[in-house]
Amino acid sequence: MILKTPICSFDARTGILCPKCDAKLRSGQLSETDVQVSSKLTKAAEKNQELAKLSLVKAEQVDQDYLLVLEPGSLAPLRHDPSFQKNLQMILGGKVWLTEADTTDKKALEDLFFPVRISNVNTAWLPDGSKLTKVVIPGRKTERFPHDTSMIGKILQESRGIDLMVEFERQ
Ligand SMILES: [Zn+2]
Repeated sequence: MILKTPICSFDARTGILCPKCDAKLRSGQLSETDVQVSSKLTKAAEKNQELAKLSLVKAEQVDQDYLLVLEPGSLAPLRHDPSFQKNLQMILGGKVWLTEADTTDKKALEDLFFPVRISNVNTAWLPDGSKLTKVVIPGRKTERFPHDTSMIGKILQESRGIDLMVEFERQ
C-alpha cells in the first residue's frame, strides 16, 4: 500500500516536482500547500505504515490549520483509529480537519463537526442573494464541546463558499 497524494509519489519523496506536476502547480491545478503536505506525509509514511492508508486529493491551509480532502469513501475507515488524526497533526504541525472530495455540503459539515452529531442543516437565502447554511447541534454548548465553530465556519467559507451559522438546540 502506498500513500496517494495529488503529486507523483516520486516527487513527494524527493521534494522536487517533475515537469508534469510543475505545470499543474503553475496553472493553479495544484497549490503550494498540496505540494508541501504531500511531501511531509510521504516522508512520514516511510516510518509509519498506517499513513499509507491515506488517499489525499487536496490539502488547504486555513490560518494554522489544515483541511485534508480525501478520496471519496476513504475517510470512514480512518475514523476507527483515533490516533490517526493526532498523528497527522504532529506531522503537519497544525490542527487537521478531514473531509472527502465530491461530497455534499451536508456530508462536509458532518465530517468537520465529527464526532459531534448534527441534528439539522437548513439553507436560507438572504435578501441580497447570498446563501446562509444553518447547522443545528443537539443539546447545549458545554465546556466539553470539542470544536472552534468559528474555525469550522472559516474552513467552509474558504473551501466551499459556505456561510455558516451554528445553533445549539438548547441555550
Ligand atoms: Zn510529478
